[in-house]
Order: sequence, then C-alpha cells, then structure tokens
Amino acid sequence: VIEIRNLHKSYGSLEVLKGVDMAAPRGHVVSLIGSSGSGKSTLLRCCNLLEDSQEGDILFEGESVRWKGEGLNRHPADRAQVIRIRTNLSMVFQQFNLWSHMTILQNVMEAPVTVLGRPRDEVEAAARKYLDKVGIGEKCDAYPAMLSGGQQQRAAIARALCMEPRALLFDEPTSALDPELEQEVVRVIKALAEEGRTMLLVTHDMRLAADVSDHVVFLHQGRIEEEGPPDVLFGSPKTDRLRQFLSATA
Ligand code: ATP
Ligand code: MG
Repeated sequence: VIEIRNLHKSYGSLEVLKGVDMAAPRGHVVSLIGSSGSGKSTLLRCCNLLEDSQEGDILFEGESVRWKGEGLNRHPADRAQVIRIRTNLSMVFQQFNLWSHMTILQNVMEAPVTVLGRPRDEVEAAARKYLDKVGIGEKCDAYPAMLSGGQQQRAAIARALCMEPRALLFDEPTSALDPELEQEVVRVIKALAEEGRTMLLVTHDMRLAADVSDHVVFLHQGRIEEEGPPDVLFGSPKTDRLRQFLSATA
C-alpha cells in the first residue's frame, strides 16, 4: 500500500532522513523503532503529507504522493489529493489531539461529515460501531476531558477508523499513557493487526512491536540500520547499534 523510496528530508541544514527505503504492503504491520531524534515521526509525517521532502518518492498504491514543497494547498487538485491521502492513511498521534469542545461521538464523526461530506446518519452509525469496537461505546456523549488517557487514545483510534482508511499510521500511540492504560490501547492495536489491517507503527514498546509486526525497521540517524522479521531482529540483532538500542530499552 505504502512504498517509500530513497527518501531524503531536511529541516534547513539538518538532514533528518538520509535515503530511506521501506514499504508497508497490504495487510502487513510494519513497525519503526529507533532512538529519539532518529527521524521516525518525520517519516510518518512525510507519508501523511504533513511534511515536504527533498528527494526520493512516496508511493501510495503505486501513485506518487510525495509533497515536493511546491505550493501544496494552493491548487484545488492538490488540496483534493491531500484529503484523499489523509483519508486513506489515517494517522493516530501520541497526544490524541481530540477536540476538547466536542463529545467523543462528535470527534469521531467530524472529519467524515465535514471533510468527506458523507451522510450524517451513516457516519453516526459507523462512529458508534467503531467506538464499540475499541470498547468505549458507552462514552459517546462524554467530552475528552472526562476520559482517561487510554480511553482518549481509543477514541482517537475510532476516529481514524471512521475515515475507512486503507492503512493506519501510528506515532507512539502508547507513550503518553500509564502502563495499565497502555495495555488497553495495545489490545486494540493487536486486534486491528489480527484483522489484517495495513499499519505503519512507530513505537517505543518493543514487546508490542515484536507481537504485532510482520516486519520491523530500525532507524538510526535517518538511515535504516537494520530490518527484518521481529523474531530475527529482536532475537539476533546483527549490528552493534541495534544491540545497544535494544539493551537500552529493555
Ligand atoms: P522521538 O522518538 O523523540 O519522537 P523521532 O525519531 O520521532 O524522535 P523526529 O521527530 O522525526 O524524531 O525528529 C528527527 C530530527 O528532526 C530531530 O533532530 C528533530 O530535532 C528534528 N526536527 C523535527 N521536527 C522539526 C522541525 N519542525 N523543524 C526542525 N527540526 C525538526
Ligand atoms: Mg517521534
């Protein structure tokens, strides 16, 4: 579904991604691990057109969607592409980013109704279905501040699902949560993986990465240092850098 080829991204003179090649094929879960500052969030943000990039390509179902930094949002055609890509690659952030003045149900319904123009009653039925699925169906009418962090993150996942995306992008979905609440979210992510959803998951949780991934990519200073199936990558890391990283996070 998503293919990244030789991607280069700089912020000014700081080169953050130095030629990254990776893919998340349909039905696969690919996890991205690496130390703070290695470029994981930047990579996800490039896929979702939240960042431009200087070189390489990002393909979504074979179509180039890389933001080349040339007047995106200025042309109506580009605006339509941004909406289509963000709909199809729905992103879940570390800090939930729910609207505090809207109920949970309204949060989940907002983008499908206002951005995609889907019929309100159809979207409401879908929103309730996804909120049930993540286990917070009874919180529809609550405001985000009334929910625990784990519940808020599950609402954010329901909101992403309600876009009916082709793939989900997760950026550290559990790292803002206390350990007990983390498990609620981990359970939801595991269930989505078992359903065969395509996911690109940035995580600090090595156990989660080992449990759900088909493929794990270790990013180090903007380059892929090592990658492979989780049992191989975690069981017998080849490079010193990955060994160091894994012993530091254990
Ligand atoms: P973490 O695990 O801490 O979330 P990360 O791997 O997600 O780290 P990124 O957020 O992708 O790392 O950041 C990679 C590098 O890019 C860092 O050196 C960061 O300081 C820099 N960076 C990120 N966003 C910007 C920005 N908007 N402007 C300038 N530099 C940035
Ligand atoms: Mg990050």
